[in-house]
Amino acid sequence: MILTRILALSLFSIALAACSAEEPRAIAQKACKGVAYRGRMIEINTGSPRLESLLKEKEVILTFDDGPHPSRTEEMLSILKEYCVPAVFFLRGDNAYRHPQKVRTIWESGHLIGGHSVRHDHLPQLEFDEATADIDRGIQLIADALHEVDPKWEPKLFRFPYFDTTPELSAYVKQRGLVEIGANASGKDWFHKTPESIVNEVMTRLAANKQSGVILLHDPFEYTNEAIVLLLDELIAQGYVFSDITITD
Ligand SMILES: [Zn+2]
Repeated sequence: MILTRILALSLFSIALAACSAEEPRAIAQKACKGVAYRGRMIEINTGSPRLESLLKEKEVILTFDDGPHPSRTEEMLSILKEYCVPAVFFLRGDNAYRHPQKVRTIWESGHLIGGHSVRHDHLPQLEFDEATADIDRGIQLIADALHEVDPKWEPKLFRFPYFDTTPELSAYVKQRGLVEIGANASGKDWFHKTPESIVNEVMTRLAANKQSGVILLHDPFEYTNEAIVLLLDELIAQGYVFSDITITD
């Protein structure tokens, strides 16, 4: 009897482990189904044109760079959950190493995670081999943090720190199967010192981009959590939709 229970429990654990990889994302998508300002799922791969160019009028993709942060990332995740909007988090390898539980929380919240180097260096200033090793190491540190919840996690997205790349480095990223993601609506939250000025910056950029854009903010930064609430309210009031991406082979 005890043996049967142990066997049943093990089988249940195996089944859970087998389906857990897709689960948080599927759960988040299901939970937000029917939310009026949820946009579409945009399919991209390494051969796609730049993400910005695929967006329709009044459509945005939210992205957050440089985390995870020990407290602010989780605050950001609760806001995103409350609003039911998807985002992509481009994580620094050193921060993923320091705060692995926060990496798992992002994953468990159903958001996509991409690489963003180990220490946020200007990669073209390194030797080519050093730069590619840094890209790989940054991704490995994220994979290590996620191993407990998704041992099969594979990176699909990469963003160069400062968008600073070379044709050779971009080719390396592509050949590694990573889609390079830029942004054309930065909130410049490293520069602005009030939530309002961050929101104004994003809205100005979106207006200049025919009212669409890949929005760039930083969850570790001081004013960004306050700014995101104002920004989401403003975007929703203006009829924008928040789309998600999926990576195809
Ligand atoms: Zn960055």
